[in-house]
Amino acid sequence: MNEVYLSIGTNIGERFDNLKQAVRLLTEHEAVDIKAVSSVYETAPVGFVDQASFLNIAVRLETTLNPFAMLSLCQQIEQELGRVREFRWGPRIIDLDILLYNHENIEAENLIVPHERMYERAFVLVPLVEISEPTNVKLERAHEVLASMDRQREGVKQWKQSVTVEEFVRSGN
Ligand code: ATP
Ligand code: MG
Ligand code: MG
Repeated sequence: MNEVYLSIGTNIGERFDNLKQAVRLLTEHEAVDIKAVSSVYETAPVGFVDQASFLNIAVRLETTLNPFAMLSLCQQIEQELGRVREFRWGPRIIDLDILLYNHENIEAENLIVPHERMYERAFVLVPLVEISEPTNVKLERAHEVLASMDRQREGVKQWKQSVTVEEFVRSGN
């Protein structure tokens, strides 16, 4: 079984509902078993700053899908939730990124793992560290980087406390 960490973010529409739908669609896939969903964090936009603030979560799951099939599933869910790709780092209904796939290093044209920008983003690292299993060595770096990121980390506010996967999918806004 493969251990995968995802980062999911949204800043358009009913943001919490978008996160719930994305997690629900993941749980409905027979080859995916979600082990943990982090708390929900709210973050001011980074990169293109003139847009609404984001809600972000990290998800830990087990899957028999290979990394490319996992990427396809993420993109399929983005499409199903109506993501329109306008420009990179712009507003989006939903973004599902693969942070880690086991301990693998992947450098393909359409897939880079660990995610290229994960170690510079507090909004990715804060939820990731919350649900991390100590078995993955790539997470040691996440802990270290986060420890040196005090100021950026302050911009990542807990918006909703973590609950079980079932409660997350069922919970009200
Ligand atoms: P960022 O990558 O900075 O978080 P983004 O998530 O907004 O930006 P997208 O528009 O969602 O970028 O994706 C652009 C491309 O990134 C996709 O076509 C996908 O093939 C590629 N990609 C490369 N590595 C990954 C990864 N680890 N997870 C998801 N997509 C990836
Ligand atoms: Mg992204
Ligand atoms: Mg993406």
